Amino acid sequence: MRIENEGKGEFSSMAMQLWADGALDEALNIMENADEANVISTLDQMPLTSDEFITLLSPIADNFRQQIEETAKELTRLRFGKTVNLYIPLYLSNHCINNCSYCWFGTDQNFERKVLSIQEAREEAKLLYRVGYRNILLVAGEDPKATSVEYLAEMILLMKEIGFVFVAIETQIFSTDEYSKLGAAGLDSVTVYQETYDPILYSKAHPSGPKRDYMWRINAPDRIAQAGIRGVSVGVLLGLGDFRREAITLATHIKHLNKAHWQTSVSASFPRIHSAPNGFSSEHAVSDTELVRLILAMRLTFPDSTLAISTRETPKLRDQLFGMGINQASAGSRTSPGGYSGGGAGEQFPVADDRTPMEVASAIQDKGLEWVFKDWDINFKPIK
Ligand code: SF4
Repeated sequence: MRIENEGKGEFSSMAMQLWADGALDEALNIMENADEANVISTLDQMPLTSDEFITLLSPIADNFRQQIEETAKELTRLRFGKTVNLYIPLYLSNHCINNCSYCWFGTDQNFERKVLSIQEAREEAKLLYRVGYRNILLVAGEDPKATSVEYLAEMILLMKEIGFVFVAIETQIFSTDEYSKLGAAGLDSVTVYQETYDPILYSKAHPSGPKRDYMWRINAPDRIAQAGIRGVSVGVLLGLGDFRREAITLATHIKHLNKAHWQTSVSASFPRIHSAPNGFSSEHAVSDTELVRLILAMRLTFPDSTLAISTRETPKLRDQLFGMGINQASAGSRTSPGGYSGGGAGEQFPVADDRTPMEVASAIQDKGLEWVFKDWDINFKPIK
C-alpha cells in the first residue's frame, strides 16, 4: 500500500480519499498480517516509509521492543541531543461555544467560566517566567467573543514582552489572514489537533458549534504554514477512534505538511482520554503498550520531528518515554484559567503527573538527560 503524497493542495482531499476508498482497510490488513520477518526488514530501513510505519504499529512489533526502543533513543539523541524541552500551558479562557462530547469545557458543562484579563495573564505568566520557562502554550476554549484574534495578539505580545522566546497557541482555529496577524504579533507555533480523522465519528463527537466543520479544521495546519508561522503541532485525541486508522492518517498528514511546507516545522503530540464528561463512552481506549508502540513508530518514521507528551500521562509512563522518542514535555501544568496563582476556574482535564517542574527535571536528569527551558532553534526563522 502506498499512502505517500506529493504535498500538493490541502490535506482534506487526501484524508477523504483515505477514509472513503478502502485504503485504510488495506493498511490494517498489512498490519494484521505482519510477521517477524516484516519487522526485521523494517528495522533495516530508516526513516520508515508508510508501509513500514504500519508494520511497527502491529502487536508483532512488541517482540522487538528492546531493539526498537534503542533505535528510537539513538534517533532522538542524534537530532535533539540529550535534552528534553520543558514547556508550560497557560489557560487564558474556558469559555467555549462548541460542545465536544469528550471535553469538560463544552457548552453543556456547568461550571465557573473565566477569561483572564491582561493584568491577570501578566501575573500568571510572570510566575511561570520566574520558574524558568521560556516556551509557553496559550490555551483557550473556542469563543470568538471571549478570545478574539485581537485579544490573542495582545497576549502574544505580552508574553514576548515578559521574555518568553517561544509562544504557541491552542485555541479556536483561524483563516490564513488571521494567522498572519498573530504571526506579526510574534506567534511561533500553533497546536491544532484534528481529534479524529474519521469524518463520521468527527460529526458525532462535535454535535454543535463551529468545530463541526471537519474540512475547515483539517486544513488549518496548511493555512498556518501558508501564513508563515514557523511551527505547527498536530495530533489526534487517542481513545476517540480506532487508534491504528487515526495513526496512519496522522502520519500521512505529517508527510503531506513536510512536503508542502518545508519552511514550517511539524511536531506531534499524543493526548489520550483519561476522563470525560458523563455520557461520553469510548470503544477505543488505547493501552499504555499501544501508546508506547505508536510513539516509537512515529520516532522511527519522523526522526526530525519534535514529539511531545503532556501531563495527562502518569509520571511512570512519562519517565519511560523521556528521550525514547519524546523530546518535549509539559511539567507543573494547571488546566484552568488562573490556576497558577490560585483560585483558578473550572479545569479542562485533571493532570496525572502533578509533580513540580523541578521534580520532573530531576526525573529527566536521573535518566542521564538534560532538561532545557529554552528552544534554541528559535533563531532559525522561516525564509519567506
Ligand atoms: S475540545 Fe476545545 S472546542 Fe471542544 S469543548 Fe473543549 S475547549 Fe471547546
